[in-house]
Amino acid sequence: MKTVLITGGSRGIGKCIAENLARDGYNVVLNYNKSEKQAKQIQKDLKEQGILIEIYKADVSKREEVKKMVKFSNSKFGNVDILINNAGIAKLEMFNDITDEEWNEMLSTNLNSVFYCTQEVLPGMIHNKNGCIINISSIWGLVGASCEVAYSVSKAGINGMTKALAKELGPSNIRVNSIAPGVIDTEMNNNIDNAIKEEIKNETPLGRIGRPIDIYRCVKWLIEDEFTTGQIISPNGGYVI
Ligand code: NAP
Repeated sequence: MKTVLITGGSRGIGKCIAENLARDGYNVVLNYNKSEKQAKQIQKDLKEQGILIEIYKADVSKREEVKKMVKFSNSKFGNVDILINNAGIAKLEMFNDITDEEWNEMLSTNLNSVFYCTQEVLPGMIHNKNGCIINISSIWGLVGASCEVAYSVSKAGINGMTKALAKELGPSNIRVNSIAPGVIDTEMNNNIDNAIKEEIKNETPLGRIGRPIDIYRCVKWLIEDEFTTGQIISPNGGYVI
């Protein structure tokens, strides 16, 4: 049985990916930070379906916490086979209003976390000569979003890391890809008002906002595929082409 470590699995896209991969038969270690109640509920609901997962609290913007998380995961299931770097935060703000603290928090949560988690799982993957790393980026990392400069930078950074790492790790049979979703219906977008959501729908050729399950399907494909690496795949309904 292959082992998946997913960051930010307590809510939204990460929750959907974690639950579905657990149902598909993977060993799942679900990371959360603030949403302990939600993480425990996911574990309980799956247990009632006869599926056991591990949950682990860690702030993935902190190297020491990531180290302990990977140690925990290794002790439960052996080396991580599939790392899904999903944890992230977003903030709408004019560029000139961004403080140093906000900039650093965005970059450390969305980008440094990918650096830390990837470095910590890599020795195990290199040892196995096998691995799959999936980074959850965003369309805004491809085309930039007004009033989301720090977020866009963090996601563009993920895309750069994905391409460079894929080249470095290919010879070790480790694949690295990004998924750059369009707007997905989760709590992250609670602050977008309905009129704007309607506008986005109208500008999307497939005529709807994305759902977490759309991202899970892409993850599943990237896990099973054996010849795709260094790619940024963007499930966005055609909003960005
Ligand atoms: P969400 O509903 O707000 O959930 C965010 C998740 O990230 C939560 O599980 C949260 O855990 C976790 N998280 C945040 N900071 C963390 C930290 N320091 N350490 C560990 N976990 C942390 O967001 P979402 O929409 O599912 O987004 C998931 C990913 O998809 C993000 O990387 C986001 O940028 C990306 N994305 C989202 C959209 C969209 O439209 N929703 C579009 C493109 C890309 P806790 O609550 O436990 O702290």
